[in-house]
Amino acid sequence: MSISPKTAIYPGSFDPITLGHMDVIDRAIKIFDKVVLTVATHRDKSPLFDLEERIDMIRESTNKFEKVEVTSSEGLIVDFAEEKGAVALIRGLRFVSDIEFEFQLAWMNRNLNAEIITVFLMTDARYTHLNSSIIREVTTLGGNVDNFVTPYVSQKLKEKLNK
Ligand code: ADP
Repeated sequence: MSISPKTAIYPGSFDPITLGHMDVIDRAIKIFDKVVLTVATHRDKSPLFDLEERIDMIRESTNKFEKVEVTSSEGLIVDFAEEKGAVALIRGLRFVSDIEFEFQLAWMNRNLNAEIITVFLMTDARYTHLNSSIIREVTTLGGNVDNFVTPYVSQKLKEKLNK
């Protein structure tokens, strides 16, 4: 009996990608044969980095992972997942407060398409307080975020925010 390869979609704003996202990717590729990171463009109306910049930073940060594909998508994420033949959506969990919003989203996605299973992955304790907006804020104020993003992303943040 042959087992078909399993693909998962990891959607997000990734404005920019952080080591918290990377930690979730690290875990996801241990479970799935392919992980498609998609920058969901409808969610944020005024991102710091435009779509191409975000995709470029994700590619640079994940090019060591053969199983990772990077793209963007509009519209319903379950429709995108179906198009890609994916079986799952990956979401990262930091702390209990993430759960309320994440459950709403997962519940609605299950109602929209019961075949696509949401998988929650808990991040490493070092990244539980990390999100992209705090990274943007700290960089604007001249703080060092090198422990929380890749060197490439750190450079791009400095170029963008500390001109
Ligand atoms: P953010 O919440 O940082 O703006 P995104 O919209 O890019 O992030 O998030 C995409 C997914 O990654 C969400 O499921 C979010 O909970 C998860 N995520 C974001 N930051 C982290 C982190 N530090 N650890 C684990 N998961 C995270």
